[in-house]
Amino acid sequence: MIGQLLARRGVRTLGLERFDIPHAMGSSHGITRIIRLAYYEHPSYVPLLLRAFELWGELAAESGRHLLEVTGTIDASAPDEVVFTGALASCQAFDLPYEVLTSQALTARYPGYHLPADHLALFQPRGGFLLPERCITAHVEGALAAGADIRARERVLAWEPAGDGVHVTTERGVYEAGRLILAAGAWMGDLVPALRGLLEPERQVLAWFAPLQRELFTPERFPVFNLMVPEGRFYGFPEHDVPGFKIGLYHHLEQRVDPDHFEREASPVDEAPLREATARYFPAANGPTMALRTCMFTNTPDEHFILDALPGFPQIIVASPCSGHGFKFAAVIGEILADLAVRGATRHDVGWLGLGRFAV
Ligand SMILES: Cc1cc2nc3c(=O)[nH]c(=O)nc-3n(C[C@H](O)[C@H](O)[C@H](O)COP(=O)(O)OP(=O)(O)OC[C@H]3O[C@@H](n4cnc5c(N)ncnc54)[C@H](O)[C@@H]3O)c2cc1C
Repeated sequence: MIGQLLARRGVRTLGLERFDIPHAMGSSHGITRIIRLAYYEHPSYVPLLLRAFELWGELAAESGRHLLEVTGTIDASAPDEVVFTGALASCQAFDLPYEVLTSQALTARYPGYHLPADHLALFQPRGGFLLPERCITAHVEGALAAGADIRARERVLAWEPAGDGVHVTTERGVYEAGRLILAAGAWMGDLVPALRGLLEPERQVLAWFAPLQRELFTPERFPVFNLMVPEGRFYGFPEHDVPGFKIGLYHHLEQRVDPDHFEREASPVDEAPLREATARYFPAANGPTMALRTCMFTNTPDEHFILDALPGFPQIIVASPCSGHGFKFAAVIGEILADLAVRGATRHDVGWLGLGRFAV
């Protein structure tokens, strides 16, 4: 997105990626990513999400690719817990349409769900899932079409300020640029040592289980969910593209990792909490394992994003990998980063996501 927007604004743009485009080594793979407007993490994300929806729609139209599947979204928890109360507060603050369903009403409408009897679910119709590998491909194709120079398999090794600009050294050469945008995911600490203490890469595991009743786990009959239960905070999806109902647990086994050296294979120990939650809360999905995959979150201390210039270096813009909830925002984050790089300011309200809240 950044490359596409910058190139369209007439800015000579170089995009560098150390692996392939797309790839499965970082944080943006795994077939599906939830997108939702009801946002229990903080209501200030809602305006960004409204813009992200517009931009994903434009990208789908321009690329001719199907990028987003609308299922509606469920945010469920005990009535006094933040997944439900926060989702409700964000809908009320921004006048978004929603319905509150008891656990029994949820099962009656969507029989794949069997949540605890005391749980409340907020249903918000505008949401579902993005197809991340296709989204990345569409963004890169758009950037290339707009004239950006995009290069994979070229790792950035170092950068240094040079007057008002910057020198960037890669495995293949040295580049001079007026501005540098760093969005290196779990590897941000390698490129920006000042952020190393703030950003914690964390191993995550996703499971796909073959539903026993497949007809209950189609996108038409099974909205994506965020669910807080005593065992933790889970999220999940209907079947799409590959076999299986998909489920994940935020902060899975709480394993902080080095992104270049961690166990990328998932094990039965990884599978256990996902299997148990499926058996308990989605029993009709509790069939044979179809796939287990690992991925990385990279968390900030408050789990909110970092979108800012580096203190003392207005020509260096940094974007954190977004604490496990950033993919849905990628389109609007691209717009924000392009604004910050070209104009030093953006019309989006992102002051609260600045580095000033930390001691950097
Ligand atoms: C299991 C899982 C489930 C998730 N579910 C959701 C969800 O449902 N909804 C949602 O909105 N978000 C979700 N997220 C979070 C979301 O996917 C991330 O916030 C987002 O993908 C982070 O994107 P990124 O561009 O920062 O990182 P990445 O996609 O990892 O991109 C960083 C890129 O920088 C490259 N790079 C690193 N170092 C260098 C270097 N030195 N030189 C050149 N290139 C370099 C990497 O190779 C990589 O391609 C989930 C994350 C995980 C792991």
